[in-house]
Amino acid sequence: MSGTEGAVLVLNAGSSSLKYQLVHPDTGDVRADGIVERIGEELSSITHGQGDEVISESLQIADHHAAIERALRCFADNGTDLATAGLAAVGHRVVHGGRTFYEPTIITPEVISEISRISTLAPLHNPANLVGITAARTFLPEVPSVAVFDTAFFHGLPDAAATYAIDRGVADLHAIRRYGFHGTSHEYVSRRAAEFLGRDVEEVNQIVLHLGNGASASAIEGGRPVDTSMGMTPLEGLVMGTRSGDIDPGLVLHLHRVAKLSVDQIDTLLNKQSGLRGLCGENDFRAISARIEQGDEAARRAYDVYIHRLRRYVGAYLITLGHVDAICFTAGVGENSAPVRADALSNLENYGIIVDAERNALRSRESRRISTDDSDVDVLVVPTNEELAIARQAAAVV
Ligand code: ADP
Repeated sequence: MSGTEGAVLVLNAGSSSLKYQLVHPDTGDVRADGIVERIGEELSSITHGQGDEVISESLQIADHHAAIERALRCFADNGTDLATAGLAAVGHRVVHGGRTFYEPTIITPEVISEISRISTLAPLHNPANLVGITAARTFLPEVPSVAVFDTAFFHGLPDAAATYAIDRGVADLHAIRRYGFHGTSHEYVSRRAAEFLGRDVEEVNQIVLHLGNGASASAIEGGRPVDTSMGMTPLEGLVMGTRSGDIDPGLVLHLHRVAKLSVDQIDTLLNKQSGLRGLCGENDFRAISARIEQGDEAARRAYDVYIHRLRRYVGAYLITLGHVDAICFTAGVGENSAPVRADALSNLENYGIIVDAERNALRSRESRRISTDDSDVDVLVVPTNEELAIARQAAAVV
């Protein structure tokens, strides 16, 4: 079928959502994309865009299996039977590869068992990813499925950066180490940044700030990550939409012993009711920015805590890298919020970092430089494209 031959269906199955995109790995052309939200709740929704057609529907979708079935029906309703469309692969974003997986991996029954075994490390994420994988194999049995792991890029983190200072025996027994996440994005953005600068990625030291609903920072030396803010789980590090990021681990014990919260309640508190939402009841950055404009104090405080943490990581990574060529902002907040970029890097002239207010204020979907001409460090905005990166990696191994 023309247009879909050689394309990759990229599936990103989150805990209650399924995002998908049909993209051509060579050209980056997006043939279709969609999102199923509130899976398993009373009323779910699907939005599917293909060509000029957009289908939006509210209905009950019980699980990820049903979500994929519904998405495939949207394709069929638009005249595309994905089972016979000549797809090169289905590319699955899988959050945790544990100690086993650090390369794009063709799915076999053995791979499924191993991803399932690793699920204890990412109980909120890997099980949903697995349902996506099994459903794709059921509905598109002729198309190879490839898992692309969010932890993969950070596989080679230096031992000192990957190791928690806890009892070695306990750590080894339970696979406890810092794995890092958003790796597909950090790798893609760091390569795009080098391209933008017209240099080999091996020559460039950079700090990448992926600021979306989830958020993470990484220090990348010549294309290889040397530190990252997320740890054994995606909970560590920066303040996020609904996740706390760094906290004193003693706080968890206190919540259990004194506040009498169960492990599951603490899990929910730290993953879903913390971060920006915990501080001001809101995790959407646009809404928070609007509230700050109106003088809302809780929103202002949430913003200040967010920026404080971000600056702490920038400072740490400047020292980790010693010499920094570029600082890159990416993902929803990083690509769109000029105030966050300005505040994250204000008053750093002594470190050779000067953001240009006018360049920073310009809106664009393209990669761009927002530092002044005499800033030693190039400050860049580099739009991420995890779907394309997954599609390319999946197509490369089949
Ligand atoms: P994820 O993929 O982690 O769900 P995104 O990378 O899409 O998240 O980022 C979502 C975040 O980006 C939300 O907090 C949203 O409010 C924020 N965002 C999107 N557009 C803007 C904008 N124009 N200004 C400020 N924040 C924005």
